[in-house]
Amino acid sequence: MTATIIDGKALAARVRAEVARGVQALVEQAGRAPGLATVLVGEDPGSAVYVSGKQRACGAVGMESFDHRLPADTPFDEVTGLLARLNADPAVSGVLLQLPVPDHLDGTVLTGTIDPGKDVDGLTPVNAGLLSLGRPGLRPCTPSGVMALLASVDATVEGSEAVVVGRSNLFGKPMAQLLLEANATVTVCHSRTRDLREVCARADILIAAVGRPRLIEREFVKPGAIVIDVGMNRLDPQRAGRSKLDTPFGAHGGSSDRPASGLVGDVDFEAVSEVASAITPVPGGVGPMTIAMLLRNTLQAARTQAGLDSPCGGQARKETG
Ligand code: NAP
Repeated sequence: MTATIIDGKALAARVRAEVARGVQALVEQAGRAPGLATVLVGEDPGSAVYVSGKQRACGAVGMESFDHRLPADTPFDEVTGLLARLNADPAVSGVLLQLPVPDHLDGTVLTGTIDPGKDVDGLTPVNAGLLSLGRPGLRPCTPSGVMALLASVDATVEGSEAVVVGRSNLFGKPMAQLLLEANATVTVCHSRTRDLREVCARADILIAAVGRPRLIEREFVKPGAIVIDVGMNRLDPQRAGRSKLDTPFGAHGGSSDRPASGLVGDVDFEAVSEVASAITPVPGGVGPMTIAMLLRNTLQAARTQAGLDSPCGGQARKETG
C-alpha cells in the first residue's frame, strides 16, 4: 500500500481563504476587522519567527495585528498588566501569549489571565474545561487542525480506534478530547506506556505528538491506518543524520515559514507510507494548519464579540477537502 499524502498546505490555504471571506463580511456587518494581539516575552529566535509568521498571516486575511514584545526579564505583574489591557481593548479580538515564556514566569498562570472569549489558542482553564465538558468554546489550534485534516480525507472517526501518543496540555489532551467528542475510542500514550508499539498497532487513526524523530516505525502501524505526524524535530545542522537533535519549536510551533531541510516528524515517513492508507508529511502537514486555525478562532472570537454569533458557535464545522 502506498499512502495518500494529506496536504496540509493546500487545506490551510483553503481555510485561510474562507477566513478572508469571513473577515470581509465582518467588516461589512460590524465595521471593524478582527484584531489579533501577540505577546512575546524574551528573545527566543524560534518564537520570534512564529510570532512574525502569525502577524503576516493576519495581514494576508485582512485582520489587524498588534505585536507586543517584552524583554526577557519582564516581571510577572507587567505581563499580566499588558494582558489585562488587551483583554479590555475592543480593537483586540484575540490574545495570544507565545509559549514558552522565560523561566521566572509561569506560562500556565499567565495564559489563565487571558479573557476566555479572546483565548484564540484555546488554552485557558475555561476553554479547556468547556472542551472537557463537550460544550462550545475556543478550541486549541493544532488539535483542531488535525480534526480538519482527518475530515479532508473523509476519515471515519466515529467508532474508530484512535491512539494519541503524547499527553501535553497543549496538544495530546485536547486532541484526545476532540476525538472523543467525535465518538472515537481513544487511547492516550505517554512516556510510561508499556509496549507502545503494540498499543499503536491497534489504531485506525494514529496521532504522534512526542518530539522524538521517527519514533513511530512501520511496525507500529496497522495496515490501512491513517497516520498524523504532529512532531517537529529540527536536525542539528552540525549533526544531521545522527541521533542528536535540536527541537527549538515552542508551544506554538508549526510555521510553514520554516525551511524544509533538517525538519523531521515523529513518524518514519518513508517506511510508514508503505503501510498506512493516508499520512501527513513534515513539513507541510499539521504545521500549516495551526496558524490557519488560529486565524479561524480569531474570526470566531470577533464575530462573537460583535454579537453576530453565540459564544463560540460554529466550532464544529466539517472541513470539506
Ligand atoms: P511535550 O509537552 O514535550 O509532550 C511530549 C509528550 O510525549 C509527553 O506526554 C511525553 O510523555 C510523551 N513522550 C515522550 N517520550 C515518549 C516516548 N518515548 N514514548 C511515548 N511518549 C513519549 O510536547 P508537545 O508540546 O505536546 O509537542 C510534541 C511535538 O509536537 C513536538 O515535536 C512539537 O514541536 C510538536 N508540535 C507541533 C505543533 C505544530 O503546529 N505542528 C504544535 C504543537 C506541538 P510524559 O507526559 O510521560 O512526559
